[in-house]
Order: sequence, then C-alpha cells, then structure tokens
Amino acid sequence: MGDERTAAIGHTGRAAPADRPGVRRLLRSLTGGDTRSARFVRGTLWRYRRLGAAVLALSFLAALFEGSTMGVFALALETLTGEEGKQSVAALGRVGELFVEWRSGADADTAFLVLIVAAVVSQLVKSALEFWSKAASARLSTSVEGDLRNRVFRQFLSMRYARIARYKLGDLSAYLTQVGAVSAFTSNLFQAIYQAMAQLAYVAVLLWISWKMTLVAGALVLILVLATRGLMTRLRINSRRLVKAGTAMSSNALELLGGVRHVHTYNREDFAAERVAKDIGDGVAARRHGLVLAAIIPAMMQSTAAIGVAVLLVTATRVMGAGDEGSLAALLTFVLVLYRLIPRITTMNNKLALLEMSWGNVERVADILRRDDKEYLQSGSKRFPALRECIEFRDVSLAYDGGDTMAVRGLSFAVPRGTMTALVGPSGAGKSTIVNLLLRLYDPMSGTILIDGTPLCDLRIRDWRGSIGLVDQDPFIFHDTVRENIRFGNLDATSAEIEEAARVAAADAFIRELPRGYDTVVG
Ligand code: ATP
Repeated sequence: MGDERTAAIGHTGRAAPADRPGVRRLLRSLTGGDTRSARFVRGTLWRYRRLGAAVLALSFLAALFEGSTMGVFALALETLTGEEGKQSVAALGRVGELFVEWRSGADADTAFLVLIVAAVVSQLVKSALEFWSKAASARLSTSVEGDLRNRVFRQFLSMRYARIARYKLGDLSAYLTQVGAVSAFTSNLFQAIYQAMAQLAYVAVLLWISWKMTLVAGALVLILVLATRGLMTRLRINSRRLVKAGTAMSSNALELLGGVRHVHTYNREDFAAERVAKDIGDGVAARRHGLVLAAIIPAMMQSTAAIGVAVLLVTATRVMGAGDEGSLAALLTFVLVLYRLIPRITTMNNKLALLEMSWGNVERVADILRRDDKEYLQSGSKRFPALRECIEFRDVSLAYDGGDTMAVRGLSFAVPRGTMTALVGPSGAGKSTIVNLLLRLYDPMSGTILIDGTPLCDLRIRDWRGSIGLVDQDPFIFHDTVRENIRFGNLDATSAEIEEAARVAAADAFIRELPRGYDTVVG
C-alpha cells in the first residue's frame, strides 16, 4: 500500500505543497467551490460525463450485488443450520414474503443449494460489473491523460515565443509528466466513490443482520481508523520526503551530466558522485522508512480485526441470544461481511490520501492551461504573398526583460527589395535581436516594423514566416533523417525539392557521402 502511494507521487514528480487543502475542503471545492483548480477538474470531468456516469452506475450496481451476495449467503447458512431469522427476512418486505413462501415449500437441502448458487451467481455478476466499471474508469482516466497532455503541449506551442522562452525546459517537461496526476486524480476519485458505495452496501447488510452488533462493530472500526490515521499522516510526510529526494537527485544528476565536460576538465568526478550520492542516500532512507511504515498497517489491521472478532463473538452471544434475529449463521455472515468491509475502509482512506496528495500537481496543470494569464501571438489578417518594395525599421526598441536594459534602442533602417544587407557589430550588439524582431519572435516595445509600408503585426503571421528563409547561427538538428530535417522547413516538400534545396545550399555533395545519404539519421 505504501508502495502504491509513494509510486503514485513519485510518478508525478512533485510533492503536494505544504498548504494543500484537506480532503474535505478539496471535495467541497470540487462539488461547489469556485477555486480555479476545482473548476478545472470539474470541467475535465464534465467533458467525460457520459463515461463518468457509466463508471458510477456500474459501481453502484456492483456494490448492490456485493451486498446482496452477503445477504443471500446469510439466508443459505440460516437454512443449513435451521435457525432462520424471520425478523431479517421480514425486513425485505414483499421479496421476504416470497422467500418465506418458497422456503416453506422446499426441503432444506434444496433450499440451501439454490441459495448458495444464487450467492455465487450474484458474486459473479458483481465481479463482471466491477470489471466493467474498472474498464470504464481506465478508459476515462487514460482519455483524460491523453487529452490533457495534448492540450498542455498545444498550450506551450500557442504561447508567444517570448513567453515560452522564459520557462525552464525541465519545468515544461515536468508539466507534461504532471498531467498523469490529473488522470490519477480522476481514477482515484471514482474508486473512492465506489469504495464508499460498497461500504454502504456492507453496512446495510450488517444492519439487516443486527443493528446492535453493527453499533459494536462501528465502534471497533472507528478505533481502527483512528489508530491508522497517525500512520497515514507519517506515510504522507515520508512520501513528500521521497519525492523531494527524487527530484533533487534527478535535477542534480541532469545538471552534472549536462556539464560532464567540465566535470572531467576540472577533475570533479568524485565531487559530482558525492553530490548525487547524498540525494540517492536520502531517497533510499525515505523509501525504506516508507516501506516499514506501510508494513505496520496490515499487521495492525489484522491484530485489530482479530481482537474485534473476539469482542464481537463475546457480545454477540449476549446480544443475539435475546431475540429471534440471532443465529449462528447470522453471526458467521456478520463476521464475514465485517472482514470484507475493513479492507475497503483502508482502500478508501488510501484513495482519499492520494487525492489529497495529487492536488498540488493538479493545480500545476490547471495553472499551465489557464489562458487569462498567458500571452499569445496575435496574427494580423492581411495576406502577404511576397515582398514588393522594402522592409523598414522605424525607431524600434526592445528590452528582453521588459525593463531598462535595451537590446536595441531607437533603431531605424530600411532594406529595399532585391538588395543584400549585412549587419556587422560586436557580440551582443543586437544583430540576432533584429532577426528575432523580423521573425516576430518578439514584438518591439516601441517603434514599428513596416513591410511594404504595412505594420508587420498586421500581416498574417503564417504568410510572413512562410516567406522567410533562415540559416541559424546555432542550427538545431532533430533526431531524424537528413531528409526529414530539411523537410521541417516545408512539410509539403517532395524528395526532389528537398534535394534541390540541399544543392542550392551546397550541402548535397556531403549529404550523399553520408552512410545512408539523405536517409542517414542525424541529431
Ligand atoms: P552575437 O554576435 O554574439 O550573436 P548579437 O549582436 O546577435 O550577438 P544579441 O543576441 O541580439 O546580440 O543580443 C543583444 C543583447 O540582448 C545582448 O546584451 C544580449 O545579452 C541580450 N539578449 C539576447 N537574447 C536575450 C534573451 N533571450 N533574453 C535576455 N537578453 C537577451
């Protein structure tokens, strides 16, 4: 169990913040509150409402059959021991009357067999329903995951370059991973609801057998829940420690591996190994502690359950002996139901704890998908077939951080069509900045860029960028064939056009000398 929980948080790669809301606040905000993240989860669930409704309906039916299996089992045992609890059958109303009528006409052996078969059938139906509910829930959570991952990636691409460039690469990739937390959140939410419904079904059977014993059992379960609560809290704290150690380990290792050239140059191999070893050690200690804590829980549950059953048996002989609701069969069924109920309580507790722990990541995903606080590139509407006259910079200024450090200030110049212009200047003079402005990767803070007299921002950005050919000073090569790398500039280009472009760029000859020519994988 501890494993499952720590693995779930480990996967999401980020611990919930210390001020995360409690489960109650969380569920309240999901159902009626208006916090942005809760709205996001509700919106996501609403998009899959049909599948969600199917999961809930199937879970409800599975819980119903789970309860009825136990009920029929109780009746079968009563038939066998000849101690029929008439009161409990009467509680079933018309169904009970029919049962009594049928029971009086059949001999005990046949009745027992029929009831046992009925219990087995009911359990089989429950298992089938539970399977369908889990399959629907898996479909729901995987769809949510795929859908959100696509949305997050599209969100990255649709943001202005100037905005997205401010994020750290590691942070962006973490967002894509953290989407898993939202899908885990939805599936845990549905599982917690199913567990709650199954518990209600069990409690209904317990009450049906004996309300007095149910009260005693309720008190025992309460003690059990309170006893495990402290452990759960420690597990949760430990899980956060584990995530912290894991994150520190991977970020330090990535950083040191990224600078491995310097590590070798300055003889810092031992230093690097020790730095990562410390994080690994922290992770090992946290993981070990978590596993030990998790091992205590089943031992504690089983001991409490054994003591509970003893207490129940002692009280039951007094409680049940008093009225005609009491029988050995009912007592056996009661204990059986209780035994099945207790693990469900623990499972539900776990699911609630997982919901709570994944909330931090859910908030992160909700945050990145927000549109009101992001900057998007606004395309102009004017078509741009080709340059007719000239490109003009008129009093253009830009500071990358939006502050006082200007990369270019009051820049004015014109480049007529058909001429060649070279920008010459020392490093940092602003040459690349001019290209960035021309590509509209950044827009000027003041001044205007005019294309044939039309402000650049009024042109359709696709047309404009499509008309620019760029040879970067720091070319980026994808891990793909040479052919596909060239095709990136024009996705519709044929192989002949690609080779023609390479010829124009004087690259055709050396590409052909590569082991597989244009089909050599590079990058
Ligand atoms: P080089 O010849 O070295 O490529 P450059 O003339 O192209 O230099 P730019 O890259 O345009 O110069 O840089 C102009 C100024 O803007 C420099 O002070 C540089 O540090 C700063 N700068 C460039 N890119 C960014 C950025 N993304 N964020 C913040 N400042 C930047």
